[in-house]
Amino acid sequence: WRGLMVDPARHFIPAADLKKFVDMMAYYKFNRLHLHLTDNQGWRLPVPGYPKLKSVASRREESFGDGIPHEGMYTKQELKELVAYCAARGIEVIPEIDMPGHNQALHAAYPEFFCFPKPDMNVRTTAGNSKELVCPQKPEVWKFYAAVFNELKDIFPSGIVHLGGDEAPTELWEKCPLCREARTRAAMKDEQEQMKAFFAKTAALLAKNGQTPQFWYEGNAGIYHPGETVYAWRQGQALQSIEKTKKAGLNLIMASSEYCYLDFPQIQGQRNWGWMKTTTLQKCYDLDPAFGKPEKEAGHIRGVHAPVWAERLPDLNHLLYRAYPRACAIAEAGWSPMGVRSWKNFRRKLADHRQFILKRFNYDMERTQGNEPAFRWENNK
Ligand SMILES: [Zn+2]
Repeated sequence: WRGLMVDPARHFIPAADLKKFVDMMAYYKFNRLHLHLTDNQGWRLPVPGYPKLKSVASRREESFGDGIPHEGMYTKQELKELVAYCAARGIEVIPEIDMPGHNQALHAAYPEFFCFPKPDMNVRTTAGNSKELVCPQKPEVWKFYAAVFNELKDIFPSGIVHLGGDEAPTELWEKCPLCREARTRAAMKDEQEQMKAFFAKTAALLAKNGQTPQFWYEGNAGIYHPGETVYAWRQGQALQSIEKTKKAGLNLIMASSEYCYLDFPQIQGQRNWGWMKTTTLQKCYDLDPAFGKPEKEAGHIRGVHAPVWAERLPDLNHLLYRAYPRACAIAEAGWSPMGVRSWKNFRRKLADHRQFILKRFNYDMERTQGNEPAFRWENNK
């Protein structure tokens, strides 16, 4: 499993640009493209019967106070073409519908899906999370997700659906009268048990279509079900994630943020918006997906995955500028056992690839991007 994730929810990526991104990843023999299709800042998947996804949830007034409206939604046809384009290049496409949280855009369109509907809710215009979780006790929520999953089934033949599941603060579930009553009725001791039941119900809905779920791993292995696949992403938690998921019978994909988040700055001086850690090419190259563990303790790790989150990446140029050349290091981590890896050798090979990467997309990655300093390969030690 050698994956890259793009984030058209935060900044829409036109289908033609996605294909250019795919060309590059195919050349470096990645085999999974993960589309983060929904988030607080936008919803990009059309679903029959839910027109407000397009008229409301796919649009926001501005981004970070810039005063410029932002919008975008794929058509079913575009997504099908993308899937075929990827399949011809050995790449499987994994859609993500993030739930129960990361859903402020959905709330703006369909407030009735939420514990405390707020008709004046806007699609989020800044980064950061929101407390809005869908309410598992509302039948219209399940009707909606059934329609979503049916649509995904039509478009994405792999059958894998990434359900997010990350950063879902349960304080509104705690207060919601319907949720409270449901917890009492089922003798659940807390909201984490409700989360487990929510995931189980969602997985059962997927199973009806022959689809299977994946999740961002949130540290509590008990809320997933044996055999499911989760992604380790939280900083500094990779090692314990490997141990706990092994014990719980889960599969793990390594996307640890301190090595794999390719939206983070790659040299000192690139913008970090106050919170992103500089993650150099060499740091990425140092990724050992098993974190030193022997096969018998790490055999459940399926591979590597690098997300390129896009709160701050408004277009393809910015995306490539941040993703490369670090994606080359992640690709090698996915292909090569630690015993044959050599930073020195990698640097030598990369010198040859530099021209290829810069030329193929007719895009000068060394030129300053906005306020960003020039990226210089030779300085990236
Ligand atoms: Zn509720």
